Amino acid sequence: MTIKKAGVIGAGTMGNGIAHVFAQNGIAVSLVDVDENALQRALKTIEKNLQRQAKKGVIAESEISAVLGRISTGTDLQVFSEADFVIEAASENMQIKLDLFRKLDEIVPADRILASNTSSISITEIAAVTRRPEQVVGMHFFNPVPVMKLVEVIRGLATSDATYETVRQLSEELGKTPVEVNDYPGFVSNRVLMPMINEAVFCVMEGVATPEAVDQVMKLGMAHPMGPLALADLIGLDVCLNIMTVLHEQLGDDKYRPCPLLRKMVAAGRLGRKSGQGFYSYEN
Ligand code: NAD
Repeated sequence: MTIKKAGVIGAGTMGNGIAHVFAQNGIAVSLVDVDENALQRALKTIEKNLQRQAKKGVIAESEISAVLGRISTGTDLQVFSEADFVIEAASENMQIKLDLFRKLDEIVPADRILASNTSSISITEIAAVTRRPEQVVGMHFFNPVPVMKLVEVIRGLATSDATYETVRQLSEELGKTPVEVNDYPGFVSNRVLMPMINEAVFCVMEGVATPEAVDQVMKLGMAHPMGPLALADLIGLDVCLNIMTVLHEQLGDDKYRPCPLLRKMVAAGRLGRKSGQGFYSYEN
């Protein structure tokens, strides 16, 4: 089906970016959050990012108001009774997501697709609380959404070929590159990235090298644009620890054990950029 009206749940870092790319590509968006302030902040962020795109010549200045005009905001999920497609980008919490999908299953017409942007929660498990598991799929965008090209399209155990195909096509219409992935903890992105970050933290803990030296090796030797510890600070050390814990618990293999230094830094509130201190200092 052609998607003309989309619903986005959660107006945080990812939700505002997802609403942005839908609206930029001509799709009307209802953006819903429990927090009215988050909605106001999201609209401001989207406008600022559109202006940045106009300055760089990615879009015309005259397009900004049309894109913003396609986004409406609210706190009531009931608006999704008219949506062609809904994507959930609410906080990474199993209970919140299961509750939302139970509600969405009641509200959104039965033939429509429900997607989740989750980084680590099982799509199969989310799908199982609905009566349409074959129409539930993972659509995993990357931050910042308007810039990053990748969408991991995650097939839950029951996801149908038709659902996968619709989301693959939609991702392309949004100017993204979809990559097909099956539903296992961490999918591909975090399954490969997080153990690398975790191992970099072990190198620091064991005195193999300083954070600066670890990052320099990975940047200069492996052509990574950013070292793993600078990247961990950007993602948030609490988020990294959560994802490692999911990998460890769900794959049951000690090779995914979170590094004790990572746990210690999170316990001390050194979460990276957002707290002003992680492997590096961001006081200024
Ligand atoms: P965030 O904390 O910035 O935003 C989450 C938003 O969800 C908040 O505004 C919150 O008020 C809202 N929310 C919470 N419960 C809700 C509910 N019941 N109904 C409606 N809104 C609700 O989080 P984020 O970083 O944008 O992450 C959102 C999702 O995207 C998570 O599942 C996360 O794993 C995933 N993700 C994050 C990144 C990233 O780099 N931040 C990348 C890929 C995927």
